[in-house]
Amino acid sequence: MKYAEVSVNSPAARRRAFSYAVPGGMDVREGQAVLVPFGEKVLQGVVIELTAVPAVEDTREIIDIITPEPVLSPHHLALARWISGYYLSPLFDAVALMLPPGFERPAVTFVSAARPDIDVSSLNDVDKKILELAGQGRVELKKLEKVLGKKKASAAVSAMVKQGLLTRSYELAPVRIKPRKELYLSLTGDVSKASELPSRQAALFRLLVGRKVPVSWSEARRQTGCGRAVADALVRRGLAVFQEVEVRREPISYDNIVPSSPLPPTHHQQSDLDSINKALHNGEDSVFLLHGVTGSGKTEVYLQALAEAIKLGKKGIVLVPEIALTPQTIERFAARFPRRVAVLHSRLSLGEQFDEWHRIRRGDFDVVIGSRSAVFAPQPDLALIIIDEEHEWTYKQDNVPHYHARDAAIKLAGLTGATVLLGSATPDVESYFKAQNGEYKLLTLPERVVPTAGSPLPRVEVVDMREELKAGNRSIFSRSLSSAINEAVAAGEQVILFLNRRGAATFIQCRSCGFVLRCRRCDVPLAQHIAGDFLTCHQCGYKTPIPQACPNCGSRQLKFLGAGTQKLEQETRFTFPRARQLRWDSDVTAGRASHEAILNKFRSQEADILIGTQMVAKGLDIPSVTLVGVVSADTSINLPDFRSGERTFQLLSQVAGRAGRGPSGGSVIIQTFSPSHYAIQAASRHDYPSFYEQEIAYRRQLHNPPFTGLARLVFVHTNDAACQREAEKMKERLLDEIAAKGVGGIDVIGPAPAFFHRLRGRFRWNLVLRGRGLSEFLSPLDFPHGWTIDIDPVGLVQ
Ligand code: ADP
Ligand code: ZN
Ligand code: ZN
Repeated sequence: MKYAEVSVNSPAARRRAFSYAVPGGMDVREGQAVLVPFGEKVLQGVVIELTAVPAVEDTREIIDIITPEPVLSPHHLALARWISGYYLSPLFDAVALMLPPGFERPAVTFVSAARPDIDVSSLNDVDKKILELAGQGRVELKKLEKVLGKKKASAAVSAMVKQGLLTRSYELAPVRIKPRKELYLSLTGDVSKASELPSRQAALFRLLVGRKVPVSWSEARRQTGCGRAVADALVRRGLAVFQEVEVRREPISYDNIVPSSPLPPTHHQQSDLDSINKALHNGEDSVFLLHGVTGSGKTEVYLQALAEAIKLGKKGIVLVPEIALTPQTIERFAARFPRRVAVLHSRLSLGEQFDEWHRIRRGDFDVVIGSRSAVFAPQPDLALIIIDEEHEWTYKQDNVPHYHARDAAIKLAGLTGATVLLGSATPDVESYFKAQNGEYKLLTLPERVVPTAGSPLPRVEVVDMREELKAGNRSIFSRSLSSAINEAVAAGEQVILFLNRRGAATFIQCRSCGFVLRCRRCDVPLAQHIAGDFLTCHQCGYKTPIPQACPNCGSRQLKFLGAGTQKLEQETRFTFPRARQLRWDSDVTAGRASHEAILNKFRSQEADILIGTQMVAKGLDIPSVTLVGVVSADTSINLPDFRSGERTFQLLSQVAGRAGRGPSGGSVIIQTFSPSHYAIQAASRHDYPSFYEQEIAYRRQLHNPPFTGLARLVFVHTNDAACQREAEKMKERLLDEIAAKGVGGIDVIGPAPAFFHRLRGRFRWNLVLRGRGLSEFLSPLDFPHGWTIDIDPVGLVQ
């Protein structure tokens, strides 16, 4: 007898696989999707492993194989097990990351007569009715329940199965993906009648005659400007006919894509490529960290490394942050590898995702580009995984499973022998640390290639807003920024004004000396708690009353900070009445069309000033932008999180990179109350190494990653006091566990109210664990309902 360990699609299964017996004659393989009995139900499962011995004595049998071809490769099975084990997530949730879109669905039960020659004379009416409904074929159990009543039908069916009169079979509910259809118009009938047509109908008719083949209605409408009524009139005359044609969903439109050829690499690019190509040739699972300022030609390195992998008969995956997955980004890859690029991201319809997934798996594409979850694409012969903007927090999934795409990619590369290429202008401090240690290989592109080789990065001026106040300027704009805006607008150049959306984050700062109130233990800014006159550390829970005066200089000008983009828009209109402005943030951009609309408007110079949040910081490449103003650098510095310095450096560097991409150069003005902050100083000099030195020293000193691991445990409850009590109880339990097991070096910090203490009517309390081997430590523990665990959280502010 053979046995299978199956990951079952049920929340009750948690992190376990279940043992099932493989019926004789059934050809079950690892990675296959199967139907299995689970309690009273029949559920989908994926075979994780075949064994000779089951993990439990009593096993039930696998009911059926869903698809003969395995849905998960052995690599993906191993990756799923790693994700479940490391991030402490249910096994099926990890498996589901790699399943084809739309795969998860309920099983439908059918019954059919066991034999064709059943003698019905001795049967009761219900049984007869069932056999009658099943007829020669089968009938859905649901239908019997509808006709006979739920209880009666299921009791009768069970009895009849026992008597050998009926057999049950199961099938998955059909995929609810409809083929996409488009309306086409084509010629028909007697063409000679066309001479008597009114002018609009004649125009449409001429188009059809010219094309000879059916024309899509949307195109015909665009070309002729005719409405549906005109077309209908043609149809009534018997000259044309509408048809629905099934079209393949094609997320990339090649209509306007001009194929591109590799650019001759600069010598820096060449030496980076030499290292990468060597790893590709040897099938090394090395990890490269490509550190290059914005506009230094990283994307060109990605493209040429992919070309090398393809030359070797292999394939690649490219991850970019969701927000950067714009048509322009996709175009650059599609232009280099026409019709060999697949796109995967959450904005595609389920149908598009479904089509792309299956074509990827067939090996139709050399390159898959997508956001976070594209790391799980079924790309065969994987040789290269590229992660652009590797420092981005969006690579960490913020719900279960809490995986980090970078770590998943590195794990997958280890399993498949693929090479990983991480790229960033502002690498994650932890990645850079690994590159310094030799765990990753560091590659650099120290110079800009645009607009010409060796172009300088934009000049950055840091404006001390305390001086502005002293000089009597209470405006949101410093004198320097305001005159620079006036000059740029007068010269017909474009301006970007950046204000971090997290402006709502509260922190308290002295207007006289710039001092920010911080937790003495955690060194993170203290936030005012919504209820009460307290300041709270959102990391350790330390509380202190709001002081009357600045502890540093005694001034009474303590202020809450955080103005939003809307306010900025008002102020801008007031201060620069003649400039045309455009706002770009998530409030304005509901769908992807509006992203494009705003961007195109700005590109085509229909506005002088673009006001925006983090969105404007990412990847905009507009040569006519000569001035970037950071309205306040302080909002991100003062987030209560040990990564706030890093975050600030990254944001400022990215924003600064938007300026001076054209021949007229550019400048950046950063407004702040903390001009001497190391992140602002380093960003103003475009000096990553000096930022890194300072940051890594702080991390070492305060014992934060990469010098330790972190786990964030959140408990959610409708009652605040109960929530706090549970968090305190859990802390005690964890401390007992640490003592009992004698594990060293794990600290339990908190409990503290979460930064967003109350979310959708429920309260949240945090515990933070600091130490090594946290998933191993937490793995055997049982957490009551309401707890979630985030291993390696990217932020503690959530
Ligand atoms: P990054 O990804 O580092 O921001 P890109 O790869 O987008 O940089 O390059 C910036 C610009 O420089 C692009 O317009 C690109 O076409 C151009 N570029 C890159 N490499 C070269 C090269 N070797 N020769 C000429 N132009 C290049
Ligand atoms: Zn603290
Ligand atoms: Zn002060």
